[in-house]
Amino acid sequence: MYTSENGYKIRKEKERGNEIKKLRKSKLKKCIGVLGILIALIIITGCVNNFGKFVITKNNVRAANKNEKTIETTKPSKKSDWKLILVNYQNKINSDTKIDVVQLKNGQAIDKRCYEELQQMMDDCRDEGLDPIICSSYRSHRKQKILYEQKIYDLLNEGYSQTKAKNEAATVVAIPGTSEHEIGLAVDIVDDNYQMLENEQENTPVQKWLMKNCWKYGFILRYPENKKKITGVIYEPWHYRYVGKTAAKEIMSKGICLEEYLDE
Ligand SMILES: [Zn+2]
Repeated sequence: MYTSENGYKIRKEKERGNEIKKLRKSKLKKCIGVLGILIALIIITGCVNNFGKFVITKNNVRAANKNEKTIETTKPSKKSDWKLILVNYQNKINSDTKIDVVQLKNGQAIDKRCYEELQQMMDDCRDEGLDPIICSSYRSHRKQKILYEQKIYDLLNEGYSQTKAKNEAATVVAIPGTSEHEIGLAVDIVDDNYQMLENEQENTPVQKWLMKNCWKYGFILRYPENKKKITGVIYEPWHYRYVGKTAAKEIMSKGICLEEYLDE
């Protein structure tokens, strides 16, 4: 009895033990299952996030590219900018170029798009106690032709041959169709106290002020010293050309001419 009772107890305990083990195993399985689901969820969430990021990144790249393209296309190129139109012995004015000028005092005229800045430059120069005078500005093609032919005539009288007179005249008075004065964006300014169109003009207080300040109003000294080989025009410390403030600042600070600026 004792033995069988003991045996019964032992069997029961074993059975209970087995049941506990089973219970533990199933709990462990459940735990592993839940853990597995959690890990799976974490992985899936991570993937979705990463995929989202991938999509966003791709979209961002696309958007950035699109923006770059937009910036590229909206950024005005130097060649299409009316302020930077290049007129020289190699670049004749297009016959269909429209010129809308505004009349100034003394019969002068200028492209109306740079009128205000020119006026401001003249006012500020006068405020410094100086006497600038615009002696030449917009010229019609016909007037340019008369000036050029007059120069050839003068040189012939000085003893130049026909060919030499034509070549020399072109460095002083631009060949008709190649003068900036014909596009209304250029002015010749002299000092009232010294009105000669000579190198000495650079020493006048007006020129000193203009050379230092013209860029602030979008103007440049168009034919600087030592640039004749590029511009085809002699040093003219009186001829100012409107190019807009951005270009004027760069051109004047670097000491380059318009041709060099456009080639950059
Ligand atoms: Zn001029």
